[in-house]
Amino acid sequence: MLHLYDSHAPPDHPYVRMPYAYLTLVQLYTRSRQLDTASVCFTRLRNTSPWCRFGCERLETPHHLFVECLCFAETRNRSSQDVIDATSMLLREAKTAMTTTELYLHTARRLFVDDTVWPLHASRYYLGTVPAINASYQISHVLATKVAQTWHIASIRLAGQIWGTYRHVVNPSVGKAQRTFDLPTHLKHLHPRE
Ligand SMILES: [Zn+2]
Repeated sequence: MLHLYDSHAPPDHPYVRMPYAYLTLVQLYTRSRQLDTASVCFTRLRNTSPWCRFGCERLETPHHLFVECLCFAETRNRSSQDVIDATSMLLREAKTAMTTTELYLHTARRLFVDDTVWPLHASRYYLGTVPAINASYQISHVLATKVAQTWHIASIRLAGQIWGTYRHVVNPSVGKAQRTFDLPTHLKHLHPRE
């Protein structure tokens, strides 16, 4: 189904330059349906309720958490405003025609919500995809790539931010594992304080 989405190459930076692979991992796990939301855990392990744990009375699916859940509305709104500003700046610098500018800004505003700009009217930004723009409004390849990459980076960052917050709320001990451990007796002489 990926051909329904924008086909410009995603930026290299988050995938080959960033020292941490968190954003990539969230995308990989989401695409392969391995992200352990409540509905996935319920289906596979039967160890939890499938409903959103923030009280939304909806199944806690990746789409619900990333697109619908009110718990993350403020985070989504902030990211949305950032991506609108960044898109607006790119189009202003390129002096694009008003109809083209409006089309791109309309799509930028709808990146993180279910809307007709998305195939099946369902936002899939958390998979690292970007909606395709009608070819008749096409701008230069360079500018279209810049816009698509701006949207891609904003999308994977938002997904990483929401999933990081979710994991922290659901399991506050994540990332705080004790980093020290007892050495076996026969190796204790290697540690200066032992
Ligand atoms: Zn919810």
